[in-house]
Amino acid sequence: MPETRYVFVTGGVASSLGKGIISASLAKLLQSRGYRVTIQKLDPYLNVDPGTLNPYEHGECYVTEDGAETDLDLGHYERFLNVPTSQANNVTTGRIYQNVINKERKGDYLGKTVQIIPHITDEIKRNIKLLGTKHKYDFVITEIGGTVGDIESLPYVEAVRQLKWELGDHAAVVHLTLVPFLNASGELKTKPTQHSVKQLLENGIQPDVLVLRTEHELSQDIRRKVALFCNLDSKAVIQSIDVKTIYEVPVKMQEEGLDEIVLKKLNLPITEKPALKDWKGFLNKLYNAKQTVRIGLVGKYVELADAYKSIIEALHHAATYNNRKAKVELIHSEDLNDTNAAEMLKGLDGVLVAPGFGHRGIEGKLSAIKYVRENNIPFLGICLGMQCAVIEYARNVLKLSDANSREMDNRTNHAVIDLMEDQKNVTDMGGTMRLGAYDCELSEGSNAYKAYGKTDIKERHRHRYEFNNEYLEAFEKAGMVPAGFNPDTGLVEIMEIPKHKWFTGVQYHPEYSSTVLNPHPIFMAFIKAAIEE
Ligand code: GLN
Repeated sequence: MPETRYVFVTGGVASSLGKGIISASLAKLLQSRGYRVTIQKLDPYLNVDPGTLNPYEHGECYVTEDGAETDLDLGHYERFLNVPTSQANNVTTGRIYQNVINKERKGDYLGKTVQIIPHITDEIKRNIKLLGTKHKYDFVITEIGGTVGDIESLPYVEAVRQLKWELGDHAAVVHLTLVPFLNASGELKTKPTQHSVKQLLENGIQPDVLVLRTEHELSQDIRRKVALFCNLDSKAVIQSIDVKTIYEVPVKMQEEGLDEIVLKKLNLPITEKPALKDWKGFLNKLYNAKQTVRIGLVGKYVELADAYKSIIEALHHAATYNNRKAKVELIHSEDLNDTNAAEMLKGLDGVLVAPGFGHRGIEGKLSAIKYVRENNIPFLGICLGMQCAVIEYARNVLKLSDANSREMDNRTNHAVIDLMEDQKNVTDMGGTMRLGAYDCELSEGSNAYKAYGKTDIKERHRHRYEFNNEYLEAFEKAGMVPAGFNPDTGLVEIMEIPKHKWFTGVQYHPEYSSTVLNPHPIFMAFIKAAIEE
């Protein structure tokens, strides 16, 4: 296909309706038809990226291979499409303004008054088109964060209006709304949708497809009514009914004909319906798994499961391919201590200690690790989770009672985890960690090597602290050994206890690269160990 087509996904009525999942599902369906597709998220907040946000605010921060700290929706995009995203796939208002202001200072607009229209909207349009012009995708699906009518989203909506005008039949708008069900009268209500479309029309945008989120089947009558009020063919009004797993949404959207409506709108041929064989194979396994595997996820943000989105999804992928249903139990690290660890972790088949920052909840993580280490329960530590495994081993096995990470105790005599050399002069907090994919060389015979089946891997990172190599010999002698190094710097990427059933801590984030069709080897091995008798 010679020219890129652009699809915009907007939302109305309420937030959290699942624009990301609808975008990813449409992308999946187009990809299955042989198109090269990418998805982009435009976020209306002023942070330059979500890297500086507390997970309670915005859920997990997802990291791309090229080291961008991004919105968690990019995780869905990768899990659905099995194609890596990049910095260009997530743009915030903060970044747009920063670019425009930098250009203004350089003198690029010399003599001109710099304004929201056209300068901010032009910068938004440039960022949308970049994926088409530079990366040559057939389809760029752009999800507009927020809800139409928000003051913050206005420049994005205006940019979409302009692009729709410029691109003609190369652009389409999918609008996602909610049709609430009123229990008292037993009715589905379409008025909020009508109002939301009116709002879009006021902003100069006629949507091409309406996707209505609903808890109950929408009759043809309801669809016709919405179509009539919103200037649409009734075929272009489809439902997105609640399903048990987000991975069923592409199948539902195919049944509703979402991809065909979009192709028709863009004057592209509608070829045979893709069978989605592998995808449906995964769903079958997911639904038919009889036995469960119970995994404890120890972290300090457990009140908000979105903070651990990619980890939870990666556990589900791996469990499914091991013919198990994952029962992921979120355990608050602040509730754990040496006395209650046995009780709180009772019956778990495996324990995962989560990434994180700062000292809150650390002691609980150490108690969990001590318990699973001493009781031969499979353990996976990720980033801070790996660092905690090192601290626990130093304190309880190497008998360095004040061992710690420099992050938690600046004055410790035994900083078994220390600040990385090139972090020592870092003062800015945004985008300055060791970020993105780095090489790692695995030691043959290790859990990690057995999991990957090769020595050379590349994994994504997000950290400032590292294992302190001055202690390496002492650890090895005491039975905790490195299983992977960065070949250029010697940074320890993986620590394991060979005598334990399966005990692996990784400095990197395997969860970011687990996808529906490619479960991550480390998660696969962890689940395998957890279900082994
Ligand atoms: N706080 C630790 C560090 O910066 C771990 C980071 C993480 O878990 N992502 O090294």
